[in-house]
Amino acid sequence: MARVLVVGGGIAGDALALMLERAGWAVTVAEIAPAPRTGGQTVDLRGDCRRVLDELGLLPAALACLVPQAGAAWIDERERRLAEMPVTAFDGRGYVSAEELLRSDLARILHRAAGPGVTHRFGETVEALEDVPTGVLARFRSGGAEEFDLVVGADGAHSKVRALRFGPEQRYRRPLGLAHAWFTLREQPGTPRLDGWFLTHNASGRRSVAARPGRAGEQEIGLTFAADALPPRRDREARFALLERTFADVGWRTREFLAAARQAEDFALDTYDQVHVPSWHDGRVVLLGDSAWCASPLSGLGTALALRGAAELAAALDAAGALADPGRLPAALAAFERTMRPRTASAQQLPPGRVAAAAPKTALGIRVNALAMRTLQARPLRPLIRRAMAGTEHGRDAA
Ligand SMILES: Cc1cc2nc3c(=O)[nH]c(=O)nc-3n(C[C@H](O)[C@H](O)[C@H](O)COP(=O)(O)OP(=O)(O)OC[C@H]3O[C@@H](n4cnc5c(N)ncnc54)[C@H](O)[C@@H]3O)c2cc1C
Repeated sequence: MARVLVVGGGIAGDALALMLERAGWAVTVAEIAPAPRTGGQTVDLRGDCRRVLDELGLLPAALACLVPQAGAAWIDERERRLAEMPVTAFDGRGYVSAEELLRSDLARILHRAAGPGVTHRFGETVEALEDVPTGVLARFRSGGAEEFDLVVGADGAHSKVRALRFGPEQRYRRPLGLAHAWFTLREQPGTPRLDGWFLTHNASGRRSVAARPGRAGEQEIGLTFAADALPPRRDREARFALLERTFADVGWRTREFLAAARQAEDFALDTYDQVHVPSWHDGRVVLLGDSAWCASPLSGLGTALALRGAAELAAALDAAGALADPGRLPAALAAFERTMRPRTASAQQLPPGRVAAAAPKTALGIRVNALAMRTLQARPLRPLIRRAMAGTEHGRDAA
């Protein structure tokens, strides 16, 4: 039986593991985290996300986890609404979907759907990948070495497989000039409720604070600010100090959020980057998901692309007959890349002003942003925008 090593048990990795197991491969997933990862904000179930889950028979499980959504609103420091866009705007094709689920629920659904043909190794990663005549020899952090017919790097934007096989991260990373912290806040008796609204408060100096609905009794918080680089991951104190300095004078509930960040088990902080890799495959090693094409959370398409990419890779391997004849792997990987390139290239083309709108620089910019949100929904423009939305692929996940 052909053996595949998937490095990274995130959305792309676990989706592919499931698809290849069903196709008859023996699958090993090496995930660096000690257990399935939780955390992350909501994922939009429109477009490819819905289609691929449906193909996998997992749509009912996803629909059972929906988080109530009313829409998005932009607010001032006293929570007065500057603009709002309900989920019903543009026939349900607007900024926020009526059907969203938490990334952690999606990850859990994919993970649990795997059968006995998938072996997950947690706390594990690869240290070296060596071509041998019959495959790729992977050396693991835990010490052993094993041969695989195919190795897939589904280990996210800071991919180790990419670094080992294609070169250092700085060659492929394109920072967008913003950083983003996200975490879960547990509601207390006095916590203001969101009632399904995704609220964003922009402050001058390119700082944005947002709270969106999560599981019952929880809110998903995001803090966005200007930065190209961050203190190292291991220096948590320096990371919190940076956030606290940056947001010290921002109003609304920011002080409450900064305190909650320190308590959160799922606190995460990263730069908003894109990843551009000229070729995703080399011999029997291939990149999948953010490691290959991260379009950044600002695209709103990361999860949809990860799922579609897994489906296209599985389909290309099947069409080439790579399971029966691993000699056909290079042709299958080339076919996969031909299919996915146009989709990822288009997702990486962020709409003009998208980065600036995520954290406007000046008070005027904040007012213009709110005005734009209101104007887009004005009666004369509605048919135009509706047509534009209808022509796009939907799969927004963390707008
Ligand atoms: C916990 C978490 C929360 C997230 N929250 C959000 C969010 O709120 N908004 C948003 O827009 N995007 C979020 N993302 C990113 C989003 O999931 C991806 O953009 C998208 O789903 C593409 O999926 P992916 O599988 O390519 O990458 P990811 O979902 O990032 O998965 C990559 C996986 O690889 C693992 N990994 C990393 N390095 C190694 C290594 N060296 N060896 C083995 N495994 C490794 C990671 O632990 C992770 O499980 C989050 C990612 C994670 C892991």
